[in-house]
Amino acid sequence: MKVLFAAYEAAPIYKVGGLGDIAGSLPRFLKKLGVDIRLVIPGYSFIEKAPFLPGSPRGKPAGQAQVPIYYLSHPRYFRKEHHLLEEKEAWEQFAWFSRQILASLPDWDFWPDIVHLNDWHVALTAVILKHRFAKDDRCPPIATLLTIHNLAYQGVSGPDILKLAGLEKSLCRVLRWDRENRDIDVLMEGIIHADWVNTVSPTYAREILTKDYGYGLDEILKGKEGKLTGVLNGIDYRLWDPQKDKLLPHRYGLTNWQAGKGANKLLLQKSLGLAGNKRPLLGMVTRLVEQKGIDLLLGDGRGKSILEQIINFGAQVVVLGQGEKAYIQKLSLMERKLKKTKKFSFLNRFDEGLAHLIYGASDIFLMPSVFEPCGLAQMIAMRYGSLPVVHRTGGLADTVKDGMTGFWFTKYDPPEFFKRIQAALNLCLTDQKKWGKMVENAMREDFSLEKSAREYLHLYQQVLELKRGRKDGE
Ligand code: ADP
Repeated sequence: MKVLFAAYEAAPIYKVGGLGDIAGSLPRFLKKLGVDIRLVIPGYSFIEKAPFLPGSPRGKPAGQAQVPIYYLSHPRYFRKEHHLLEEKEAWEQFAWFSRQILASLPDWDFWPDIVHLNDWHVALTAVILKHRFAKDDRCPPIATLLTIHNLAYQGVSGPDILKLAGLEKSLCRVLRWDRENRDIDVLMEGIIHADWVNTVSPTYAREILTKDYGYGLDEILKGKEGKLTGVLNGIDYRLWDPQKDKLLPHRYGLTNWQAGKGANKLLLQKSLGLAGNKRPLLGMVTRLVEQKGIDLLLGDGRGKSILEQIINFGAQVVVLGQGEKAYIQKLSLMERKLKKTKKFSFLNRFDEGLAHLIYGASDIFLMPSVFEPCGLAQMIAMRYGSLPVVHRTGGLADTVKDGMTGFWFTKYDPPEFFKRIQAALNLCLTDQKKWGKMVENAMREDFSLEKSAREYLHLYQQVLELKRGRKDGE
């Protein structure tokens, strides 16, 4: 089976968030299962363009086991970091990219059975394939699978995007929201035209069929019934293993996590100018966007915020994140306000090393996402023995077990969130035996990508059967 995996990021070559983790590792696990899989990503001007995904599985000759990467470069596009793009620039460059993926197949002489598309950036490829490419007799049948990693980002764009993608306007549903002259919902078009759609956790696959979580696409998604599934993401334990993690100063496993985490905590406290002590430390590694529930932590300026209540409790909080200006300002303000306490630190950057240290040093990991398609950070935190406090939604509900491997709250409001944080803090401070048991439960959980890869292989087979069945019946 031949698969072309398309995404706008793939770690470690270029990473913005969880999609980068998945695109950079899932293909390697699928390759191990015998899929001839190749990756296509933008040829950003500032990245090193390795010919293969680093870290091929052992036990096979190089080349056979490696995942080749195709980079698509353009003199005007992909010269800026993703979060610095103006919306219009993003639409344009991804319209070009979506088209170029298919236009490049003859050059690569690679004819996949399935093009696996990820998120809105490449969703138009499904439309182009169906309406233009598939009509060309020289083109073998190619199925499309669209994975939605986050329904909140739909690429609602201006009409020029279609011209750039080589599509006539009549092929797409026009939204006519038009005050800002945007009328094409790229993700929606991808959903309509793809042969199969999946998302990244079973709970989120159900949630997006409701008004509350459907972001305006719930009815369209209901139309995909039978061709809409959820496959839980996983993490790559080759990169995220506290026992072997090269980015972690003090490595540890199930038998010595107290000592390892304690040493990492002291190091983190020292490097950030926090008071050096053994009090609980709460960590957060996140994109700073509304979805991630930063508002729940910071409050609305009336009364004491949850963050201040945690500090009053005697615990410390470290937040690492980049994203929207408003959150950066609020967090920076809070850092200045709490400076004297030496209990709060905010780092506004993307820093892989620091992220590993926060997972390895913290006792508790905060992830109060409003919604969460899957979430990898809570899985990483559990692996590193940092117990997550999460909102019971999407992939968080599928991965965290309340009272066993973490803590969840159901009603999305500050007191509920704080109640669970308090429960975690009290347990951590008063019942080391139970706390230790929970930490070990969490570290033992199996979120390996091998499992996800096996499910994707099964899904690929289903998609191909559907496509072939349809072809025969045509
Ligand atoms: P999302 O994909 O919505 O951003 P996930 O939890 O699925 O959220 O994945 C986030 C990934 O990005 C994790 O690997 C996390 O450690 C990483 N990450 C997020 N922000 C930063 C940052 N500022 N520095 C380093 N890593 C980060």
